[in-house]
Amino acid sequence: MDFNSQIQSKNQPIVLPELKANNYQLFIKREDEIHPLVSGNKFRKLKYNLKAAKQNKNKTLLTFGGAFSNHILATAVAGKLQNFKTIGVIRGDELGQDLSKTLATNSTLRAAYEHGMKFEFISREKYRDKMSSDFLKKLELKYGDFYTLPEGGTNALAVKGCEEILTSDDNEFDYICSCVGTGGTIAGIINSIDTPQKVIGFPALKGDFLIKEIQQYCRGQKNWQLVFDYHFGGYGKYSDELIYFINRFKEDTTIPLDPIYTGKMMFGVLDMIKKNSFPKGSKILIIHSGGIQGIEGFNHRLKRKNSDVKIL
Ligand SMILES: *Cc1c(COP(=O)(O)O)cnc(C)c1O
Repeated sequence: MDFNSQIQSKNQPIVLPELKANNYQLFIKREDEIHPLVSGNKFRKLKYNLKAAKQNKNKTLLTFGGAFSNHILATAVAGKLQNFKTIGVIRGDELGQDLSKTLATNSTLRAAYEHGMKFEFISREKYRDKMSSDFLKKLELKYGDFYTLPEGGTNALAVKGCEEILTSDDNEFDYICSCVGTGGTIAGIINSIDTPQKVIGFPALKGDFLIKEIQQYCRGQKNWQLVFDYHFGGYGKYSDELIYFINRFKEDTTIPLDPIYTGKMMFGVLDMIKKNSFPKGSKILIIHSGGIQGIEGFNHRLKRKNSDVKIL
């Protein structure tokens, strides 16, 4: 994971029998291979923010997230690599009551902790007000100066980093498919494509507010759309069918998918292909943004619910 050069991840062909009929060419950009603990898009989003923090002479990064957040762990790992102290403000004060138990059962927070992150666990109510100047002032009294990264990591510098996901070789694709959480990743992709290309976003949560979020970081481009049919009920929600799909896809292609973002997108792309939503012969590039670190925690959740299924 090199913060100074322009990392390019490889495009891997996806070979599946159902793609043959209409001559679809499907490739996946393996941003998940940038780092085992830092989701590819989170690396992109952190790159220029960490540069700015260094320029500001900040020694500490502070950010926010849920207990399984890819962004929290990415900040801890990338921060350590770049010699920052890191503080994670985590939603759920009950998690702070017995830290050793929390770390024993939550592999995301454990890995963040092992990379030196300090945690500030707060109630869901307080979490809603986490960006208030009152709360941030209190944190400053406790921890000193810090560089604040928003929840999910999206800001203008994050979008700039995501503009480096595609390379000029990717101009040959008709469609670029991306997961959408806060919208920062897809905004960078939209800003970096050639006009005849189309970007399709697959939100991992409900809500058309995302369209406005994305527009705010773009320059009035029109060649993108969001498909809201594959969030599986909302953020972190899933069905057994989704789990079976992720397991079968890995068996067929050896490519792992996560249940929060990339699994839902891939399910959506293949379903749209089945329904002939893409013209015959389309060349489609899917961005694998990562998230694989979250599988262990997700399986833990399934087990606690006595679920029969798990991600293999
Ligand atoms: C955070 C994340 C996303 C969502 O990215 P946004 O920029 O918030 O839209 C997508 N995929 C993975 C694996 C992520 O960790």
